[in-house]
Amino acid sequence: MNSEQLWQATLGELELSVSKVHFTTWFRNTFIIDWQDNKVVVAVPNNFTKAWLENKYHKSILEVLQNISENKISYIEYRVETAKHVDSGSVSVGDVTAAEAGSESSEAVQDVQPQASGAKDSGLNVRYIFANYIVGKGNELAYAASVRVAKEPGTKYNPLFLYGGVGLGKTHLMLAVGNELLLNNQSLKILYITGEQFTNDYVSSLQSGNVDKFKHKYRTPDLLLVDDIQFIGGKEQTQEQFFHVFNALRDSHKQIVLTSDRPPKAIPALEERLISRFEWGMIADISSPDLETRMAILQSKSKERGIELDEEVQRFLATNVQSNVRELEGALNRLLAYAELHNASPDLDVAREVVSSITVSQRRGGVTIRELVKIVAEYFDISLEDLSGQSRRKELVVPRQITMYLMREELDASYPTIGQELGGRDHTTAMHAYSKIKRDFDSDERVRQDIGSIRQRLYNG
Ligand code: ADP
Ligand code: MG
Repeated sequence: MNSEQLWQATLGELELSVSKVHFTTWFRNTFIIDWQDNKVVVAVPNNFTKAWLENKYHKSILEVLQNISENKISYIEYRVETAKHVDSGSVSVGDVTAAEAGSESSEAVQDVQPQASGAKDSGLNVRYIFANYIVGKGNELAYAASVRVAKEPGTKYNPLFLYGGVGLGKTHLMLAVGNELLLNNQSLKILYITGEQFTNDYVSSLQSGNVDKFKHKYRTPDLLLVDDIQFIGGKEQTQEQFFHVFNALRDSHKQIVLTSDRPPKAIPALEERLISRFEWGMIADISSPDLETRMAILQSKSKERGIELDEEVQRFLATNVQSNVRELEGALNRLLAYAELHNASPDLDVAREVVSSITVSQRRGGVTIRELVKIVAEYFDISLEDLSGQSRRKELVVPRQITMYLMREELDASYPTIGQELGGRDHTTAMHAYSKIKRDFDSDERVRQDIGSIRQRLYNG
């Protein structure tokens, strides 16, 4: 069997299990450019298709290829190949299809292309889809709500408001909604933007006298995705604009999805009328994944890259990197890079090496105690005086204890120093605060989220 026959047979199988529209969209103009031993290189016309095959269809493609090749093939690489030069040995199925279907084929491809770049321009990263989102206790509600919205946009859950700490998959879910809808209707108008971009966009439209254009832009999409909406807190005019955008879209049954690092009520200086609107639809929080979910994520992410991690390595990484999924991914990337560089397998020794280097480099952030205190105060939206003062109000006590915990964890400060720096407290108070928050970190989701967000601010500016 040559590679053309192999791919024809594969496509024939796949066509049976994939809907016609999807099959035409994703498999037309694909072909095998290389087949050696257990590895096959599949050429695809663009990055958009590549991402979809990798994320959504990889499992099915591999299964079929394995069947047909009697388990000889175990690895597939997808490569964007726009130039039509093909190894003399293999023939492009795309060409065959194009010849059969006449001009229709190239039109279909063009339909995909502008959408692909359009999606990219609006920030829709096609890697973020439901199929590669691991569902666990912390995110099942948010996941279910997002899937529902992708099935019936603009109906029940409008807006969908997703909130949770940094790096927990809010943006991923939000974009998955967009990508899923786009898959079913490629002409759908989707606008993805961050709260910060929205604000800047409005300000510059004011400056250039283009407010009408601004208004038009935000009132026309079928789906509006605003990431990190908390940013508009405290910005009166921007909130006013967003209020009108929101009403216009919702009135015409266009779907709105928002993400935030905290629930509407807790966003500092967010207008009452926006809070109530954000609560109209569905609010779902995403909390830190538990150990099992973290392990499942590691397994899925490494599999995507063709690597099987030992369970003990998964467990070790997942136990030592708890803060959020982004950091977990970062640790996995380091692990794989390190192993490759040293020509080693990504085993427990390498994992130990990687974890200790992460901890060291984080500590090297060069954050001072003063900066840390300032960042915590800003995060909780309280004054420096209140944070280090004597008031026993709960909304001050917890941030204060978190500050002490972080001084110890992140800066290795001694208990007497911690007490001293935070309003001249006794070192036993610092010890007590530290162990209390350490306990809460394991049992209290809110505390874990707050600490995660603050850490992110500490190290990412
Ligand atoms: P957030 O917007 O909440 O800060 P992101 O959506 O950017 O977080 O997620 C950070 C990274 O972690 C992304 O690469 C995302 O794909 C990944 N990620 C987060 N949660 C999951 C999950 N449940 N399954 C798979 N990947 C996840
Ligand atoms: Mg995000």
